[in-house]
Amino acid sequence: MIDYKELSALLFPDVTMTEDDVEKMFPQREGLPEGAVISRMAPSPTGFVHLGNLVQGLTSERMCHQSGGILYLRVEDTDAKREVPGAVETLIESLSHYGICFDEGATVDGDNGSYGPYRQRQRKDIYHVFAKKLLLEGQAYPCFCTEEELTAIHEKQEAEKANFGYFGKWALWRDRSIEDIKAALAEGKPWVLRFRSEGSIENKIKHQDLIKGNLEVTENDIDHVLLKSDGIPTYHFAHAVDDHFMRTTHVVRGDEWLSTLPFHLQLFRALGWRAPKYLHIGPLMKMDGDSKRKLSKRKDPELALTYYRSEGFPVESVYEYIMTVLNSNFEEWRRANPDSPVDSFKFSHKKMNPAGSLFDYAKLCDVSKNVVSRMSAEKVYDGVLDWAEEFDPCFAEALKSDKESAVRAFAIGRGGKKPRKDLTVWADAKGYMGFIFDSIYRIEDVYPESFAKEDINAVLSAFCASYDETADQQAWFDNLKAIADSLGFCSDMKVYKAEPEKYKGSIADVSMFLRVAVTGKMNSPDLYEIMKILGKERVLARINAVIGG
Ligand code: GLU
Repeated sequence: MIDYKELSALLFPDVTMTEDDVEKMFPQREGLPEGAVISRMAPSPTGFVHLGNLVQGLTSERMCHQSGGILYLRVEDTDAKREVPGAVETLIESLSHYGICFDEGATVDGDNGSYGPYRQRQRKDIYHVFAKKLLLEGQAYPCFCTEEELTAIHEKQEAEKANFGYFGKWALWRDRSIEDIKAALAEGKPWVLRFRSEGSIENKIKHQDLIKGNLEVTENDIDHVLLKSDGIPTYHFAHAVDDHFMRTTHVVRGDEWLSTLPFHLQLFRALGWRAPKYLHIGPLMKMDGDSKRKLSKRKDPELALTYYRSEGFPVESVYEYIMTVLNSNFEEWRRANPDSPVDSFKFSHKKMNPAGSLFDYAKLCDVSKNVVSRMSAEKVYDGVLDWAEEFDPCFAEALKSDKESAVRAFAIGRGGKKPRKDLTVWADAKGYMGFIFDSIYRIEDVYPESFAKEDINAVLSAFCASYDETADQQAWFDNLKAIADSLGFCSDMKVYKAEPEKYKGSIADVSMFLRVAVTGKMNSPDLYEIMKILGKERVLARINAVIGG
C-alpha cells in the first residue's frame, strides 16, 4: 500500500493552500435572479476567430443575459505551443465587434472580476491543490513514461488489435511502488500526473445534454493526463477546476468535446463536485456538391470572422443570420416584428438543431439585404464609411467630402412599408451611389447600338434646355414625356408595346439615355432624386459632356 501522504509531499512540496481555502476564495455567486445562467467563453488564443466561436458565444451570451446571469471570458492558454501573440486582444475585439460583451473575465488590460485569474496559466497553484487532493485519495498517480515507451505501447496495442490508450495493464505506472517513483524522481525523470480511472468500457452512463438530449455514453477507462510535465494542466482537468470555482452553471461548447465528456463527468465526481449543465453544439456545415461537410479552416474563407468584415457584412446582418441558424423560429419572429431590437427575441437553446447547422451564404445575403433595408440612411452612411476607411480609402474620402449628399442618396427608397433592398454588404454602396461624387463618376454602361447617336443627343439636349430644378417629381416626369413625344419616342408604354415599330423608342429609353449620362449606369436609384442631389449645374455638365463626347 502506497503512503500517499509521503508521495504528495514528494510531488507537491509547495502546495500549502487547502481545498477549503480555495472554496472560500471563490464563494457561490449571490444576488442573482432564480435560474440565472453563469457561463463562459473559454477559447484558446490561437489567433484564429471563427464562425463557430460566434455561434458558441452568442448562445452563451443570450442564455446568460436573458436570464440576468453572468458571461465571462476565460483564456485557455495551457497549450503554449499554439499561442499566437496578440491573440487575446484579437479575440476580445472580434467578439465585441459582434456584440458579445463580457461581464467579467480576461480583458485587454488584465482581469476584471473576483473569480480570476482568468488566464489558465496563471492558475497553476489552484490546479495543484486539487491535483494533490486526487493524489492523496489515490485517484491520481505520477507517470514517468517516455515518448518512446508510449509509442511502444501504442504499437503493441496495434499488433494485438487491442484498444489504444493508457489504461489497465498498459498503464505501466498505475500500480508502481513508492520506491520506483522515488528512484525515477531521483534520476530527475520528468513526470505527468494521471487520473486513475475506475471506469470500464463495458458500462454505459446516461447523460442529459441540453442540446443533444438524452445520451448514453460509454464510461471512460483511460488514465488521462491531468498535469503535464511542466505542471500545467490539460484542458480536461483545468476546465473542471475552473468551471467549478468560477461557479459556472452551463458549459456551451462544440460537440468535438462529446467524446471526452465521460471523462469530464468522472473527474467532477472524483473531485466531489456537481458538474455544470452541458450544451454541445453541432458543427457548422456547408453543401459541397450534393453532400454536406464541416466548414474547414483550410478550404472555406467564410469560416474566419475577418472575412465578414472585409466583405462588408454589417455586424447586425451576421448577428441576425446566426440567430436564424440557431433558432428555427427567429425568422418568423423577425417577420412579425420587423422593427424590434434583435435582443427582444426570446432565444431558446431548445430550438437548436442537435445535428448542427447548415451555413448558407445565399441566405446570409438575403438576411443582410433585409437588415440593411431597415436601417436609417445615417446608419447606412456610418456603416459604409467605417468599412471604406479600412477597405476602400478613396471611397471613404469621397463619402466624407459630402456627407449630406451621401446620406440623401442612401435615403432614396428608404423608410415606408416596402423599402428598397439594393445593398447586401457595405461594399455594394460604391456601385450603388458612388457616382454622386465626381471623383467616382464615370460612364460604365454604353448605350445600346439600336439607338442612333443623334436621337440620343436630341433627347439629352432637349432635357438640358428644359430642366427645371424646382419642378416636383410629377412635373419633371411630364416634361420627360413631352420630350419623348416631340422627338418620335412614345410616352405611353402600353401604346408603345402595341406598335413599337412606329416609334424610335419609349419613355423608358428616354429615361435610360438620361440615367446613363447622369449616373454612368443603366441602373440607379431614382433619377429625379439623384438629379436633385447633384444640383442643376452638375447634371447639365454631365449630360453636356456626353453630348459632346
Ligand atoms: N479551449 C476549448 C476550445 O477552445 C474550450 C472548450 C470549452 O468551451 O470548454 O475548444
